[in-house]
Amino acid sequence: MTIDVLVEININKKDKTFSYNVPETMINEIYLGKRVLVPFGKQTLEGFILGIHDKQDTDLKDIIKVIDKDSILNKELLELGKRISEDSVTNLVSVYQSMLPKGYKASIKNTVKEKTVLYVKLNNINNVKEYLTKTKSKNQIEVLNKLLINDLPLRDLNTSSVNTLVEKGLVTKYSKEEYRLNNESVDKVVTKLNTDQENAYNKIINSDKDVILLNGVTGSGKTEIYMSLIDKVLSEGKEAIVLVPEISLTPQIIQRFRSHFKEEIAVLHSALSDGERYDEYRKIIRKEVKIVIGARSAIFAPFTNIGIIIIDEEHSNTYKQDHNPRYNAIEVAFLRGKTYNAKVVLGSATPTIESYARAKKGYYELVELKTRANNAVLPLVNIIDMTKEIRKGNKMFSKELLLSIEDRLNKQEQILLLINKRGYSNYLMCEFCGSVRKCPNCDITLTYHKTSDMNRCHYCGYAENNTKICSDCKKDSLRQMGYGTEKVEEELIKLFPNIRTLRMDIDTTTKKGSHEEIIKSFMNHEADALIGTQMIAKGLDFPLVTLVGVINADTILNLPDFRSCERTYDLLSQVSGRAGRSSLPGKVIIQTYNPDNYSIKLSKTHNYEEFYNEEIKIRKKLYYPPYSFIALIKIGGKDFKETINESNKIGDYLRNKVEKEIVLGPSVGSVSRINNIYYFEIIIKYRDKQKIIDLLNEIKSLTENNRKIKVEFDINPNSL
Ligand code: ADP
Ligand code: ZN
Repeated sequence: MTIDVLVEININKKDKTFSYNVPETMINEIYLGKRVLVPFGKQTLEGFILGIHDKQDTDLKDIIKVIDKDSILNKELLELGKRISEDSVTNLVSVYQSMLPKGYKASIKNTVKEKTVLYVKLNNINNVKEYLTKTKSKNQIEVLNKLLINDLPLRDLNTSSVNTLVEKGLVTKYSKEEYRLNNESVDKVVTKLNTDQENAYNKIINSDKDVILLNGVTGSGKTEIYMSLIDKVLSEGKEAIVLVPEISLTPQIIQRFRSHFKEEIAVLHSALSDGERYDEYRKIIRKEVKIVIGARSAIFAPFTNIGIIIIDEEHSNTYKQDHNPRYNAIEVAFLRGKTYNAKVVLGSATPTIESYARAKKGYYELVELKTRANNAVLPLVNIIDMTKEIRKGNKMFSKELLLSIEDRLNKQEQILLLINKRGYSNYLMCEFCGSVRKCPNCDITLTYHKTSDMNRCHYCGYAENNTKICSDCKKDSLRQMGYGTEKVEEELIKLFPNIRTLRMDIDTTTKKGSHEEIIKSFMNHEADALIGTQMIAKGLDFPLVTLVGVINADTILNLPDFRSCERTYDLLSQVSGRAGRSSLPGKVIIQTYNPDNYSIKLSKTHNYEEFYNEEIKIRKKLYYPPYSFIALIKIGGKDFKETINESNKIGDYLRNKVEKEIVLGPSVGSVSRINNIYYFEIIIKYRDKQKIIDLLNEIKSLTENNRKIKVEFDINPNSL
């Protein structure tokens, strides 16, 4: 037998495979998509089996070993990978690698294995019963009586008694696979869809469109509809994939699914250990589960009979991977949906402008839910003009926010405060000469973190001890400007000494399980206020939260990006959606320096369509999506001059090839230097997708050998 292997290094010949011979002893382990270890020149490399042939060829080298026990990448996924590689302008092997669960990708030495546990079983029941009448050992009697009911793990039994019984030939130890993620049993809950939900459900299942956009206000009960749709799919013997943003993969949503379904559910997210993730995949491959809930990469779950794919919070930018391969899980869902003839349901209170436009044009079925389930009312939103408050001396908290916080504390209700910036201060500026302290490796300001008393770069991780000395004028005049989550928490405690606070941002959630702990603690009312970055805006359901305060709604608005208004509106709607989800009415206070901006003003009415109608006019005028597609070429290099020159060459090449398309740049990247690499960007606005994908793949092959620069492609980038 010979096989075609796609090896792990990029050999500059587009996705070329190499042939190897398979020794007799390994033939049974060979499956398409498995990884093998092969000799390659002087090296030993990993590679994927992409072809299997029955012929003999003794001239070929032998493979060294088969790495994988299971083949995760089945035929469908191998084909899908080719399409993704093409569409995202990335090497095939790196697409396959990112389709594999994390942990599988690691070098062979630490590839995860299944966890096995020693079990004990009886050899012959009659012999045991006879022995029980004779023996006097209490411990042995206890062990045997337990084993008469069922096999048990050795760890639950008296080891020395077991060993004696093994010697006597009465019991045997054997090893058994055990899944690492243990699922505590939960009470089953049956919820009946209300009339609006029932209508939405029927519209979805009766639609003749491949894609459905479920646009429902926060708390309208979209999750209940998802679960009913999955019920139907399961009853047809098919499988379901549910994608949620990483950050909403909290125990809350998993618990809800577990209490609805009798069936087991596999859960995939980044907080799992490699071993846990490996086990979740084993459940899928062994067909022990029919439902997967996971973040972006769960779209590659190796199911073979998909009946529905649900994407919750479809507007979330986490569905697009922000490093190579830059695939978008929603587009992958469309491809897999087509293959299996399965519907794709996109759900959101604030869909992307592109999705809503497609729904309005009739490419997607549009299904809407305008009111909250179980009679909860949408919260009242007050917008506070901070330019006026500042004049009264209220820098961080407006008068109204303070009064409302006090009121909630008195009523023992809970408060969420959003400040979209972590750390203590935003940046450090010299009061004497005005110079701002920057990262030595990146062109970006450092942020002071009080807990660690250090200045940190949020791009490269550079950290230095806090200093007050300006590096330019050497005076002792560096001051902290602006504020982040840490400072807001500190100020709040100063104003309300008895307040119990929790903080949720990247800094407090890096430890495994800490995110869950914070949520659980807040849920148990162990704190009055939860202060956090946009992490707190999504998917959480705290019945006692009746006040949401947005400290500064302008942080995203001020970014130079055509989506900044959309992102602002999303964030405000999502975070508002956390207030008043139960019988207690909710209130939202939004502090801003731009009270007249439509994305802030319109968040008051919870009417997405109003916002859409404003935003779409601007998109049209400026030829931005959905009126065009955007591709970003990012060129990085160590030498500033060389990088400009090479970038210019790419720009010229493109301009020669395009007709109607618009090519902008090269211009200096949004951050011009990261980790001592200089970045330039070229932007293309276009309508003819295939033409540009082909052109970019051409540029990829042309620049792959260029050692002076590294070129990356981002189709429909998350941000510009
Ligand atoms: P969404 O996903 O649209 O934000 P959820 O599905 O989380 O909304 O529903 C919001 C709240 O309303 C949840 O607490 C949920 O349990 C409740 N709920 C939803 N549908 C129903 C229903 N038909 N009957 C009773 N409660 C419901
Ligand atoms: Zn840096």
